[in-house]
Amino acid sequence: MRINKGSLIIAAVIVLFTLFRYYSNTQKNEITGETQHIALSVNDEIAMGLQSAPQMAAEFGGLSSNMQNQAIVKEVGQRIVTKSSAAETPYKFDFHLLADPNTVNAFALPGGQIFITEGLLRRLTSEDQLAGVVGHEVGHVVARHSAEKMAKDQLYQGLLSSVAVGSGGDMSVAQIGQVVASNISMSFGRGQELQSDDLGVRFMMEAGYDPRALIDVMQILKDASGGREVPEFQSTHPSPDNRKEHIIESIKKYSEIFHKQ
Ligand SMILES: [Zn+2]
Repeated sequence: MRINKGSLIIAAVIVLFTLFRYYSNTQKNEITGETQHIALSVNDEIAMGLQSAPQMAAEFGGLSSNMQNQAIVKEVGQRIVTKSSAAETPYKFDFHLLADPNTVNAFALPGGQIFITEGLLRRLTSEDQLAGVVGHEVGHVVARHSAEKMAKDQLYQGLLSSVAVGSGGDMSVAQIGQVVASNISMSFGRGQELQSDDLGVRFMMEAGYDPRALIDVMQILKDASGGREVPEFQSTHPSPDNRKEHIIESIKKYSEIFHKQ
């Protein structure tokens, strides 16, 4: 078998370019303190989220017509983001209640558009629990998980295209937008979920909510998944029991930090 040297060189160039692009797009996250590989600007994230929001809503029966509940979601959301360190970020947060009564789920689009379904809201029994759900989703936004994932997808795609040589590995922004709306919220990794729980605890405490309510939420999610039906919120999330343990650790950690201040 003859190996085509020209193709190998092109593939090597694509690999180098892809790795360079990934590792040169480095940004420090002021809230989490992490260094992240992200190719998008904050404004890109905000624009992408706003563009995808109507599609996201449409997938879950549109916005709820229950104006009272809609207002509660917005109010608790705004309290979380104005009274916590999330207020120091440039994101434009908005909170929406989706009409879907059967799906037990919550989502965050990049840039600050946050959704919770009626199906999840009606299972919550306190404002603190709602603050927990919202705080977790705000965590995804602040930690820039969608942008992180897109950069990683781009990395993998670049590497894949080096294998397929020549076809070019770039997704257009429009394509990415569609992907965002349809499945980004279900494809956060395990580490990202635990980080969002940790940030959720932090934002709850900063905003004056009882962070133990997030542990209740885990129980609610666990109960909701009873039987064969696994809510989407959980399908890509670590198990509620596993999350509970980490949440308890986060509460201890932040209690000490805030106590010293
Ligand atoms: Zn999540």
